[in-house]
Amino acid sequence: MTSQKRKILLVANWKCNPATLPEAQRLFAAIKKTVPRYNNIDVVICPPAVFLSRFSAVGGKLGVQDVFWENTGAYTGAIGSRMARSVGASYAIIGHSERREHMGETNEMVQAKVKAALAAGLRVVLCVGEKSRDGDAAAYAGFVKEEVSVGLRGVTKQSLGNVIIAYEPIWAVGSDEADTPERTLEMALYIRKTIADLYDRTVAQTFPVLYGGSANAGNARAFLRDGGVDGLLVGRASLQAKEFGKIVQIANEF
Ligand code: PEP
Repeated sequence: MTSQKRKILLVANWKCNPATLPEAQRLFAAIKKTVPRYNNIDVVICPPAVFLSRFSAVGGKLGVQDVFWENTGAYTGAIGSRMARSVGASYAIIGHSERREHMGETNEMVQAKVKAALAAGLRVVLCVGEKSRDGDAAAYAGFVKEEVSVGLRGVTKQSLGNVIIAYEPIWAVGSDEADTPERTLEMALYIRKTIADLYDRTVAQTFPVLYGGSANAGNARAFLRDGGVDGLLVGRASLQAKEFGKIVQIANEF
């Protein structure tokens, strides 16, 4: 009897790092060396967009950290989905909490970006997560439900096949306090229940959910084993090739 391994997605979000192209090239090369190819793991590196075309020449799956909701036009500084695709991105992170916080992105803006990215043929990693867990569980669960429901408004069931949701409790992103796998499991189930209500139970059952928020080599195993998720969105730990390589090796256990 052969045992079927789960397909795991590891998304590396470099954010606004590193500062220069040579440093980024060194990091990319080190990650490529440390990250062996496993059939059951998809590793997607999301460098700053200005570095994308340099990396696509080298190979590997790439993502962009944000896209604008128009492909072209008078939008100074914006990056269109088709531009990102044309320089090698096949994934787009959309609705990251840092963009919601620092760039004032609303659920409606996120929705427009999701639709534009899907139309351009990108796979979307839609980030959702509550600001705090203080108070009523129904309130923070409702916050996440709203992010999912508005973010996916107008996305057809067919296009949903190109969407992944990253559950990233905001308080755990960039902090030293990761969530617990048990709580992540509850939220992953809740997100799939929301998908079932919006679409149907069949798509919800296999709908991919990632965990993000201070994920590292020390906690990756617990999240992948007990968190009910299909992978991880990794920020800081993806800037250290050895640490990220360990996460990839851990993911290969599943
Ligand atoms: C992120 O950038 O989405 C993230 C989870 O960051 P960190 O792993 O550093 O918390």
